[in-house]
Amino acid sequence: VEFEQYHDASGAIVIPDRTTLVDFVESNVSAARRDPAADGLIYRYIDYSSSRQGEVAELSWSDFGDRLYAIAARLQQVAERGDRVAILAPQGLDYIVSFFAAIHAGLTAVPLFDPDEPGHHDRLHAVLGDCTPSVILTSTESAAGVRKLFRDLPARERPRTVAVDAIPAELGSGWTRPDLGADDIAYLQYTSGSTRVPAGVEITHRNVVTNVMQLFDGLGLTRASRGVTWLPLFHDMGLLTVILPAMGGATITVMSPRAFVQRPGRWVTQLGAMSDGDGVFAAAPNFAFEHAARRGLPREGESLDLSGVTSIINGSEPVTPASMRAFNEAFAPYGLAPTAIKPSYGMAEATLFVSSPRKDDEAIVIHVDREDLNKGVMTVLDPDAVEGNEDAIPQVACGYVAPSQWAVIVEPGVDGSTGEHDGTGRELPEGRVGEIWLYGTNVGRAYWGRPEESEATFGNRLTERLPEHSRTVREFGTVPEDARWLRTGDYGAYVDGQLYITGRVKDLVIVAGRNHYPQDLENTAQDASASLRPGFVAAFSVPANQLPIDARNGAVIPSDDSSETLVVVGERAPGAGKADPGPIADAVRSAISARHGVTAQDVILVPAGSIPRTSSGKIARRACKTAYVGGTLRGGHQQTAFPDEPA
Ligand code: ATP
Ligand code: MG
Repeated sequence: VEFEQYHDASGAIVIPDRTTLVDFVESNVSAARRDPAADGLIYRYIDYSSSRQGEVAELSWSDFGDRLYAIAARLQQVAERGDRVAILAPQGLDYIVSFFAAIHAGLTAVPLFDPDEPGHHDRLHAVLGDCTPSVILTSTESAAGVRKLFRDLPARERPRTVAVDAIPAELGSGWTRPDLGADDIAYLQYTSGSTRVPAGVEITHRNVVTNVMQLFDGLGLTRASRGVTWLPLFHDMGLLTVILPAMGGATITVMSPRAFVQRPGRWVTQLGAMSDGDGVFAAAPNFAFEHAARRGLPREGESLDLSGVTSIINGSEPVTPASMRAFNEAFAPYGLAPTAIKPSYGMAEATLFVSSPRKDDEAIVIHVDREDLNKGVMTVLDPDAVEGNEDAIPQVACGYVAPSQWAVIVEPGVDGSTGEHDGTGRELPEGRVGEIWLYGTNVGRAYWGRPEESEATFGNRLTERLPEHSRTVREFGTVPEDARWLRTGDYGAYVDGQLYITGRVKDLVIVAGRNHYPQDLENTAQDASASLRPGFVAAFSVPANQLPIDARNGAVIPSDDSSETLVVVGERAPGAGKADPGPIADAVRSAISARHGVTAQDVILVPAGSIPRTSSGKIARRACKTAYVGGTLRGGHQQTAFPDEPA
């Protein structure tokens, strides 16, 4: 399948109303079945759980097709149109074929977690209760774990569990082509849950097909590209890395997140090993680059050639120059191109991909003035004025918005009745910080089962659009006047046509009428004391009247004093388990006061593992605040719950 035919004369992506993901996968599979010479490898899974070298399992296109059609046919026997089919399986080929089979059956796939993975249970129950699947696809080895999840439900409310590895290929002949259009739902993509209970974004066939083409266009991928991924498949970034090959024909090697975290060199080795095609792509969150640089270098005598690596997306969390620098310095001697790392922006509501530098562009880092940034203005500092300047904040460009997608910066405002930040709908010019709003056929239409939140998030009108579009270097087509825009909940700005992400709206710390970005405060805190675990510090604001008694420093706080105060929580670094918290808190407090001009009301140290994180490892500051106010944080209780989870 060539993607050319889905672009109009202006270069805009146009998907016909009857075209679906099923069509792309089917035509790739039938091409391989017709011509054995075209029957190449699509997925390779390397399992390191029981062997250090890893056990390799592979699927050719025709193997993939055989399994896909058989599982889809089975699903068509037991489920009805509109039913949700959840995938609850460990990372691996069974997971991948299950996901595509649910879609191939014309049902709504819901990619979820490994039921046997500890620590995900709160999330799993929250999302299962939300999407109420009628069928669970899993593997034989995980079926017991799946049944355990539902044992408290009355028998007739339990979903049917299907072990996909036990389905014979012959069943495939019973598959019938589902009657689907581009605007039917293909799957629900749950958000990470960084700021709330994860919400299931309804991703239509048009959304996902468009976003895959945007990724191909944006990163310059082809059918002969090769990928390597260890990202969890339930996360939007992990899922798209395995949808790319099924739609576009590229081959990918998959491993588990644990295999990477334990030995990041496994990922690096595969990036080097996949260079037989037309460039290697991958994606990972920021921490992974530092982790790989520190612990993923080849051992003496091992060879490594990374010159074939064309694009590694750094996304899903704020991108730091330090992490990129560490990776580039570690691997440049092995041929890594300075253009390889692609700081990118994306989110579940947009299927995944929003913006990225072009294939041949190097990542851009600028420095802006802190005080101006906090007031919403990007004042770019002269590179000579950065060294030793404590008010210079590095910002990494997330490149250009993908073709057939639009991002505008919208004026922030405060909703008078709720005190919540609320956009006014007016677009801001270059250099000004505001909320990022998105439009494009890759943007999902709603959250599953949440009509009000959906309208507030997906149904926004711009009241004023600027005529000049310096940001639209790669804009194709036009946005209709009455377009419904997505509010991303992120602050950002354009500088020289490039999109910068400055932080989450919900996490902004506002004390005494001044804004502070939490990640900026957290950086200062961890620079001030080596006893804090880097990357495991959370800054957030707490109303004075909700402060715990021992955080009030003896002051009497009236019960109606809801003015915001700053709280900083840090996990103890390895080796600092018994360090006296007093001097550490003092050092953090004075550094924050000196650099940011704000007093930290409370600075506390907690054991490693106490700060809540999402299933994909993102920091959840609001859940941390809830635990702090609720008193569970100080005891070093392992946090898993969500801030707004119904009790
Ligand atoms: P939830 O919406 O449930 O609170 P989440 O926003 O983390 O969780 P995702 O859709 O997986 O769920 O993540 C998208 C978010 O990740 C973006 O809205 C943004 O806040 C953050 N993000 C993604 N890429 C970047 C980036 N390059 N720089 C900074 N932040 C990023
Ligand atoms: Mg979000």
